[in-house]
Amino acid sequence: IMVRELESKPVIITHQEDDLKDVARKMVDNNINHIPVVDSEGVLRGIVTSWDIADAVARGKRKLRDIMTRKVVVARENEPVDVVARRIDKYNISGLPIVDDENRVKGIVTAEDISRLIGKVD
Ligand code: SAM
Repeated sequence: IMVRELESKPVIITHQEDDLKDVARKMVDNNINHIPVVDSEGVLRGIVTSWDIADAVARGKRKLRDIMTRKVVVARENEPVDVVARRIDKYNISGLPIVDDENRVKGIVTAEDISRLIGKVD
């Protein structure tokens, strides 16, 4: 099974200059925890999670660019799910943006999506 079959699309994204409050609202309204940060071309620039929002509150930061993670662990649509599951475990994270060859964000895959897939197997 390939990642393509699990990915959530269209993916909810944000931009570096966006207000942290709006990012938090997007998480709550869409019931999600990972939001890729993209530029005007849709190219991946970072990722922000509820953990980062908590960190921002704790440290009094207000700008997304000050708290987002810039070195993003990604997946590609044509990768097998088990390879991605191992990557999630290795980096101790729970969601990976799926990017194309130009690093444009196509979707997202989470540990939850993979658990759901495995739960379905008899
Ligand atoms: N283990 C928890 C989890 O899986 O969400 C939280 C720990 S994780 C180290 C929290 C940090 O990982 C946050 O700063 C977040 O921005 C970062 N992060 C989340 N997904 C990421 C990804 N795909 N690539 C790089 N960093 C990521």
